Amino acid sequence: MSVPTRFVLPQAELPTHWYNVLADVPKPLPPPLHPGTKQPIQPADMAAIFPENLVAQEMTTERWVEIPEPVREIYTLWRPTPLLRAVRLEKALQTPAHIYYKYEGGSPAGSHKPNTAVAQAYYNKQAGTKRLATETGAGQWGSSLALACKLFGIECCVYMVKVSYHQKPYRKLMMQTWDATVYPSPSDHTEYGRKLLQADPDCPGSLGIAISEAIEDTVKTPDTKYALGSVLNHVCLHQTVIGQEAIRQMELAGEDPDIIIGCVGGGSNFAGVAFPFVRKKITEKKPYRIIAVEPAVCASLTKGELRYDFGDTAQTTPLLWMHTLGHDFIPPKIHAGGLRYHGMAPTVSHVHDLGLCEAVAYPQSKVFEAAILFARTEGIVPAPEPSHAIRCAIDEAVKAREEGKTKVILFNLCGHGMLDLASYDAYLGGKLVDE
Ligand SMILES: *Cc1c(COP(=O)(O)O)cnc(C)c1O
Repeated sequence: MSVPTRFVLPQAELPTHWYNVLADVPKPLPPPLHPGTKQPIQPADMAAIFPENLVAQEMTTERWVEIPEPVREIYTLWRPTPLLRAVRLEKALQTPAHIYYKYEGGSPAGSHKPNTAVAQAYYNKQAGTKRLATETGAGQWGSSLALACKLFGIECCVYMVKVSYHQKPYRKLMMQTWDATVYPSPSDHTEYGRKLLQADPDCPGSLGIAISEAIEDTVKTPDTKYALGSVLNHVCLHQTVIGQEAIRQMELAGEDPDIIIGCVGGGSNFAGVAFPFVRKKITEKKPYRIIAVEPAVCASLTKGELRYDFGDTAQTTPLLWMHTLGHDFIPPKIHAGGLRYHGMAPTVSHVHDLGLCEAVAYPQSKVFEAAILFARTEGIVPAPEPSHAIRCAIDEAVKAREEGKTKVILFNLCGHGMLDLASYDAYLGGKLVDE
């Protein structure tokens, strides 16, 4: 064998702490505001929907947060995840660049989302929560939380956007296999859902509606809390095991990346891979280029404004300081369902504002072209979301060829696409269009 292509860490090297970028940024992140008083939110304001321990974690600026042992034990079901070098892709591109990817698709749910779902289920269990309610679009977050709840003996209730519930039954079946209760949203299980169904029995639902139902359920059901799969500080924090492992694995490969790339929906998998490198950029003055990749039709970093906005359509959440396209923006129905969010994690928005990362946007036709090339060279069928990161990695590798430079590129392959094959069907059948 000519070059090593697979870098694995022993279980003993699983990270012991999560990394909090808020400890190292040169300017503090503006705090979330109460939607009524417009004053910084107090922990008590969030107590109705989140347990105290997670509220404290959401607000902390402590640099290293210890990962509880029971969470680390569950992480070992799939962590540390492998780092691979895409030598066949490099060859197809005839590039002198070295392309590495961190693969998060080997978790039971097939994405990075269990990294936070397991942590959130653990803290809720500690706080005495008996039941968690949440929303899900296509089901990536719902299935991750269903798994985590089962492992900690908590009931899980998921409001799944009705069109996806009917058109994409497989992730619903994963959730049910892991013992979650799944309602197509709008449902007759909440007052808000019943009101919408009365007005329009065929209402297809939306993420905004499903959030409102999950929050109503939380507030009205005893011992129930709410869980969110992206955007918030504690969610991005939990994902930083990805970047910490990647730093160790790049050392094993004997290289330091020039470019680090991740796709962004709410921002959590990007934060996970990027923030430990952002730390080195701040504290060791490393010259990393760190790139967030978003869909052209839902480009909150490259086209949105940095300001306070609501996290949901119904304007019930605290006001978050973030890049946003406006809380009433309805993104077109692109295949990368996980990237259809109007806002961006406040931590990612802040890091971008401070010039510590950059952003690019691609139309989905270019993204699927990259996904197909990756599948045909490296084998793994990538989810449409990380295929945005693949597109960017390919473009940077081609640029390196044109400039005759040996760039080292690292991207996060945050999920596989085995439950997204209908999107591949559309692309291969020539039915996938750009808006
Ligand atoms: C949910 C999801 C995303 C988008 O969420 P982020 O918080 O931006 O990471 C991206 N990729 C996959 C595979 C997902 O499941």
